[in-house]
Amino acid sequence: MGLMDGKRGVIFGVANDKSIAWGVAQQLHAAGAEIAFTYLNEALEKRVRPLAEGIGATIILPCDVASDDEIAEVFKELERLWGTIDFVVHAVAFANREDLKNPFTQTSREGFALAMDISAYSLVAMTRFAVPLMPAGGSIVTMSYLGSMLAVPGYNVMGVAKAALESSVRYLAAELGERNIRVNAVSAGPIKTLAASGVGNFKEKLHIMEERSPLRRTVNQEEVGKASLYLLSDLSSGVTGEVHYVDGGFNISAA
Ligand code: NAD
Repeated sequence: MGLMDGKRGVIFGVANDKSIAWGVAQQLHAAGAEIAFTYLNEALEKRVRPLAEGIGATIILPCDVASDDEIAEVFKELERLWGTIDFVVHAVAFANREDLKNPFTQTSREGFALAMDISAYSLVAMTRFAVPLMPAGGSIVTMSYLGSMLAVPGYNVMGVAKAALESSVRYLAAELGERNIRVNAVSAGPIKTLAASGVGNFKEKLHIMEERSPLRRTVNQEEVGKASLYLLSDLSSGVTGEVHYVDGGFNISAA
């Protein structure tokens, strides 16, 4: 018996086999879940489709989360094919490269709005469309980073977006708790992925983790996947509105 046997849901945010979303997908699949995937564009479809099909996925859809219509289309298709779903994984973020490189004061109005739209608002929109497909409850998990709480050099506007994302998690959780829909975030330590390559001083962040985190090492996609599995499964039935750190304890360590 798998922890997720009989459960179905959708993962937004696989770009390749290094994606955190793929780490989550592997854990969910191993636990028996049936998973639908989305991809941002045709170039990424070429990477996502073989991965998804390799674990038996049959629903693989395009979705730019900047568009409410495209998000709506995904959930309409899930309703048509499955009727209901049990979980949603939101592992999507974007900021202009220059806004992660330049001093924070140089962030443009457009760059600020873009980072907030793709990285934070998209969770709210996604949840709105997911709720009608979760009549008996469900679990929604998003991905955050410590830069939401602390001014981490090079994280800049993405830190502001993650603060909005974590706050959105709390407001969504507060509103949806009575429907038995839980909303949580995993705050991961730095992991080498496509998105991470845009973050300033990224290598240094990995070194600092190795030197200063209580576990004295970095974390990986599998560890984020396992924590997400906990939050998406009934093991965490009493948990909502939380930011769950998977960072080797770095967030509690001053040393
Ligand atoms: P990744 O590049 O593999 O994933 C980012 C995903 O966002 C990609 O699949 C990309 O296609 C998608 N995306 C970007 N703009 C989009 C749009 N408009 N519509 C739809 N999809 C879009 O990198 P990752 O590190 O796995 O990132 C996943 C999540 O984890 C992000 O929210 C990121 O901020 C978060 N996170 C990453 C780290 C890290 O160090 N890698 C640490 C903490 C949190």
